[in-house]
Amino acid sequence: MQLPFFLAKRFVAGEDFTQAAPKVRELNEKGISVTLDLLGENVTDRETADTTTGEYRELLTGIREQKLDATISIKLTMLGLDIDTEYCRQNLFTLLDKARELDQFVRIDMEGSDYTQRTLDLFHEARKEYGRHVGIVIQAYLFRSREDVAALVRDNADVRLCKGAYSEPRSLAYKSMSDIRAVFKEYAAELMKGTDFTRIATHDDHLIEWTKRFAEENSIPKEKFEFQMLYGLRLSTCEELVKDGYRVRVYVPYGTMWLPYYTRRLRERKENIWFILSNMFRN
Ligand SMILES: Cc1cc2nc3c(=O)[nH]c(=O)nc-3n(C[C@H](O)[C@H](O)[C@H](O)COP(=O)(O)OP(=O)(O)OC[C@H]3O[C@@H](n4cnc5c(N)ncnc54)[C@H](O)[C@@H]3O)c2cc1C
Repeated sequence: MQLPFFLAKRFVAGEDFTQAAPKVRELNEKGISVTLDLLGENVTDRETADTTTGEYRELLTGIREQKLDATISIKLTMLGLDIDTEYCRQNLFTLLDKARELDQFVRIDMEGSDYTQRTLDLFHEARKEYGRHVGIVIQAYLFRSREDVAALVRDNADVRLCKGAYSEPRSLAYKSMSDIRAVFKEYAAELMKGTDFTRIATHDDHLIEWTKRFAEENSIPKEKFEFQMLYGLRLSTCEELVKDGYRVRVYVPYGTMWLPYYTRRLRERKENIWFILSNMFRN
């Protein structure tokens, strides 16, 4: 399906790094750090996976050259996880070589449950080799996450905790918001107490307020965790958090392959659809 880019531009910072970089700078000037995400998913040929690995390496260099306060997030299916796990590992390590050389950081986004085990296995391998230059994501909605969190805490890993964005079967994942919030809090507590730094990725006021309270009650300083939100959502909340001394990072996607990402954002909230529709009428 071909949709014009103006429909996506609330959630996507541009079609290339040149367009995205000024948006990153604007956020940095507000005291907000950034995670850059070159959009795309499920690459099925080696040529595209090799090109993508090269583009990510260039992105790390671009961030350094432009002196941006930004790291990157990647999806392993873009580095060839659907083609061959060993091949994907080589691409990941090639990228992490660059991250280590530039003293940068690469977070591995978490995709659908078919990939969870392989993603965690590759992360644990990468963590042994690249230490603090690599991080991972946990989706609270998956039943398996309790054990995954425990292993990550033992490893003092750098974890982004989110609810989870994919449509998973009832046999694998919690479905109700109250269950998901309950496990989110349980894992956030373990990570905040048991690791050096935790990333709380949510727009949910209930969880944001809970995190602030939990940190205060457990004497966890504001320097030991950050809130993460998506580009195009709740900027004023991000600004208020910064004003109150909290660390905030915004996930900024860019690229030409924006349709799957954009569709997930629309599925999540009706308000997002209304925003797009009202923008359509204004344009
Ligand atoms: C930085 C970041 C990285 C992520 N990485 C991944 C990943 O690697 N893998 C993955 O599966 N998922 C990822 N996600 C998506 C995540 O799993 C959720 O699907 C998504 O964040 C929606 O859940 P939520 O907690 O933000 O709020 P929701 O569950 O969508 O909403 C809960 C409540 O939050 C408030 N709220 C939410 N949005 C708005 C808004 N626009 N305006 C006002 N109030 C609002 C409302 O009170 C609402 O009732 C990521 C999310 C973020 C923020």
